Amino acid sequence: MIGLCPFHNEKTPSFTVSPGKNIYKCFGCGKGGNSIQFLMEHEQLTFPESIRFLAKRYGIELEETATSEEYKEEQKLNDSLYVVNEFANEYYQKMLHETDEGKSIGLSYFKKRGFLESTIEKFQLGYANEENGHFYKAAIKGNFKKELLFELGLSKRENSDFFRSRVMFSIHNLSGKVVGFGGRTLSENKKIPKYLNSPESQIYNKRKSLYGLYFAKKAIRQEDECILVEGYTDTIALHQAGIENVVASSGTSLTIDQIKLIKRYTDNVKVLYDGDQAGIKAAMRGMNLILEQDMNIKLVELPDGEDPDSYLTKLGTTAFKDYIDKEAKDFILFKVQMISEEAGNDPIQKTKLIKDIVETIAKIPDTIKRSAYIQQCSQMLEIREEILIKESNKIISTDIRRKRLKADRQKLQSQNEDVFITDKKVAPKQVNPIQADSQDYQEKDLARIAILYGSLPFIVEEEESELVIIEFMFQNLSGYFDQFKNDLYSTIIKKAHDQYNESKTLETSFFTNHENNEIRNYAIDILSPKYFMAKWKEKGAGLLTQKDPELNASRDVEISLYRYILKLLNIQLEEYSRKLKEQTQESSSGENVIKTLQIVQKLQQERAALSKHIETNLTYKI
Ligand SMILES: [Zn+2]
Repeated sequence: MIGLCPFHNEKTPSFTVSPGKNIYKCFGCGKGGNSIQFLMEHEQLTFPESIRFLAKRYGIELEETATSEEYKEEQKLNDSLYVVNEFANEYYQKMLHETDEGKSIGLSYFKKRGFLESTIEKFQLGYANEENGHFYKAAIKGNFKKELLFELGLSKRENSDFFRSRVMFSIHNLSGKVVGFGGRTLSENKKIPKYLNSPESQIYNKRKSLYGLYFAKKAIRQEDECILVEGYTDTIALHQAGIENVVASSGTSLTIDQIKLIKRYTDNVKVLYDGDQAGIKAAMRGMNLILEQDMNIKLVELPDGEDPDSYLTKLGTTAFKDYIDKEAKDFILFKVQMISEEAGNDPIQKTKLIKDIVETIAKIPDTIKRSAYIQQCSQMLEIREEILIKESNKIISTDIRRKRLKADRQKLQSQNEDVFITDKKVAPKQVNPIQADSQDYQEKDLARIAILYGSLPFIVEEEESELVIIEFMFQNLSGYFDQFKNDLYSTIIKKAHDQYNESKTLETSFFTNHENNEIRNYAIDILSPKYFMAKWKEKGAGLLTQKDPELNASRDVEISLYRYILKLLNIQLEEYSRKLKEQTQESSSGENVIKTLQIVQKLQQERAALSKHIETNLTYKI
């Protein structure tokens, strides 16, 4: 199957998935792997998390044993952090519902905002008491280590609490685990910050998290639209009103990681913002980033003095929905309108603002869309279209140059990965394209055959021999392994042989799931469709006329193997011929010369026999 890559932006599909082989590979950005790696990469899960995720989905019971100590420690820390957060989460909820302070201050605040009991429960809203150290003591009593409280920022020092006298909002990751908290003070004291957020920790990255996304992701996909608001309470209020495709970028201005998070579910973003200057400014931030991701942005301005929560309460759900549908304005056109009003007739201001608009338009990757905007802007701003085009092209070409530089660097890196450098020392040499007859290429081809056809019977003259291909290959190569230029390929052949010896089977999944990264990556490349197609073409045979590769496997292995051995013989021959020449020039003893001469003759005979065998017996049947 082929489709658009989820890891990089593209218009032409280059991302392939082979369900049978359980692998994916992108020929645009080079990402590839098995299903576990996909989950790790795409859902930002760790290895054990991915395993647990799959086990849960398919109802498989897991018996957990850990591997490396270091890894175990890290996992243990992560798991403990989640456990502590879960404790804090339950604690704050308990305070809200079960203490007088929580009920009279926190709960009544939420009720006043119109939050239903079910909503308060769903979003796990809570309350942090006024008394300093209240939470800390409870956590220590619950046997939680103080270091974990410090790491999560729940306490800064012993017997003290970070969140006090605040209503609490739990922040969830995509799988619903609590990664941090936001706390809002109800005090009127201006010196106290209105909102406090958990600091970043090993499990909480603010740039990569969006408030409410865990609850919204399904609706975002269904509606094919994401509504972006500013605050926790806006998110919750809209959600309660049945508008569930809503998230908040609370605490930070929108980051590229947050946008990519949204793009997983939809290309359409609707930004709701408070109808004052600050609200507009806040809404404008990060919009160019969204445009760059080829997403569509609409802005909905709320009447002066209203926020989404208050206005929703005023209008009711149906009227509010109508309002945001009707009032949604295209972001770019809105910006044009706004700046032209702002600039008035001041030519200096106008020039500055036009530059600003052109910069925004230049971010749109789609050319047709871009030229439509230019046309419209030219009319609205009363500026000739050519000027706008020229200006935007300037910006685009600078951007392209910058991106190309970046891409070149990445390509260089992925090329390095492509040829599977086992030894960092040989890296500079390996960047060059591989020549078809080089030793390295031949080794690579043998490893390919081992992976693809290792367990097929080895057929000689139409009859099955006692051996399978990997055994035949291993026996013939056993004297040559230390002459391999690239250890990866000899390792693959040896491991394939070991595996077959042990289990009498050799599945491609043995390689695509192998613990060694390089082996796994090589296997995934080999098994990817593009590689297959290239192989067909290389052999010079039309797709329709050549037999299945499997039918030629024995021939394949013989040809590759013997050609490779021929290569090694040639190398040896060169060495000994040189030696012979030196010995005659130095007039060393006749005995030595004769010995070398005999070796040379023996090698020549072997070479001649091998060449003849290849020529007479080993041609492709078409
Ligand atoms: Zn890609």
